Amino acid sequence: MKIAIIGAGLAGLSCAITLEKYGYQADIFEKRKKVGDRPVVGEAMSPILHTPIDDAIKYLSENHNIHLKPTTNIQKIYIHSLNESSYLEGHLGYINKRGKDPEAYEKQLAEQVKSPIHLKKQVRYEDISKKYTHVVLATGDPIDTQNIQSFDTAFKASFKGATIKGDFIHNEAHTWYDNELVPKGMAYFLPFSNAEGNLVVVYPQYKENRTIDKNNLWKKILQKSSHTLGQELSIRKEFSLDNYVVGKNKYPRIGNTFFVGNCLGVINPFLGFGQFTSILSGIYAAEDICGESNYEDKVQILYKNYHDSLTLRRKLEGLTNNQIDMVTKSLHLKPVRKLVAGSHVNILKIISSISHPARR
Ligand SMILES: Cc1cc2nc3c(=O)[nH]c(=O)nc-3n(C[C@H](O)[C@H](O)[C@H](O)COP(=O)(O)OP(=O)(O)OC[C@H]3O[C@@H](n4cnc5c(N)ncnc54)[C@H](O)[C@@H]3O)c2cc1C
Repeated sequence: MKIAIIGAGLAGLSCAITLEKYGYQADIFEKRKKVGDRPVVGEAMSPILHTPIDDAIKYLSENHNIHLKPTTNIQKIYIHSLNESSYLEGHLGYINKRGKDPEAYEKQLAEQVKSPIHLKKQVRYEDISKKYTHVVLATGDPIDTQNIQSFDTAFKASFKGATIKGDFIHNEAHTWYDNELVPKGMAYFLPFSNAEGNLVVVYPQYKENRTIDKNNLWKKILQKSSHTLGQELSIRKEFSLDNYVVGKNKYPRIGNTFFVGNCLGVINPFLGFGQFTSILSGIYAAEDICGESNYEDKVQILYKNYHDSLTLRRKLEGLTNNQIDMVTKSLHLKPVRKLVAGSHVNILKIISSISHPARR
């Protein structure tokens, strides 16, 4: 077998590590001059949305021989709405870096790969597919999937963020929901340490959000977060991103081409989490190539989580600021808190069943 992986990101590299576990090597093509050669951003993995696996890092290490060292673990997530603040507490997941940082997850994965990573090789699927028996499309960009098959876009998102310096509690994350300020979107702060973290505002590019002045919004978010965190924040590296596609493709596999990570389209539409599912899809594709399991069957759970999460998102998008305040307030109640963060109950599944009783 001659296997090509297009893209040395989370999905592509996890696929390579798994192929090697079964005795195969792949040619990995990466368009950038280094793995992870892009601005540093903080990202999170949380079990809240992928129960029953309550510890993604432990799961990957014990079951798939993929070892990741996060920057911090999250013990508290604050939820701030217009007039209320609440928090969830417990083991709520991990924060990690992506991009140029030496500890970025893609760099950690690359260190575990033995297959050759061909850098500065922006390859085209049409050219590669003729030379290899198997192709894994892992470019992180659903547009590459759209060139081959249909991709159902739920929405596109705009981001603006920055690394900020200050005096933080390293295992406490913050989220802000204010429909007047960021309609149907949110802002979040993920600490990397007691002195540094990532502040980001993200919103869907719906018609009604087209008039948002991103720079103005960013200023307001800075003021808001500075007020909540009780300090002046010093801004380091800013980044901005538009047209980030959230959706899903139609076919996980066509012939011997496997669509993984964002090319499969498994980003969780509620919070934008795609790291864990990208890694899983890379693993599942490799297991199929090695004859260990069936990719189309394995990814059904990822599609299902996607649909459940989209249902939750659509529900929450309809809430007014008053209703968001009420939801935030309800988190003061211990049983509600426990249901969301401390149990193995799949919230997404419950909400989706209530919304679409006939679907399951
Ligand atoms: C600002 C932001 C914040 C996010 N926050 C979170 C979060 O908190 N939690 C979470 O779980 N997820 C988060 N996500 C989503 C998460 O980052 C993605 O779902 C995940 O990285 C997708 O992995 P991937 O392997 O598909 O793509 P990537 O990891 O992006 O890798 C794709 C690789 O392919 C390379 N490539 C592209 N085209 C070609 C080509 N033609 N030839 C060769 N190489 C190519 C790229 O250079 C890149 O290295 C966030 C995303 C963004 C943008």
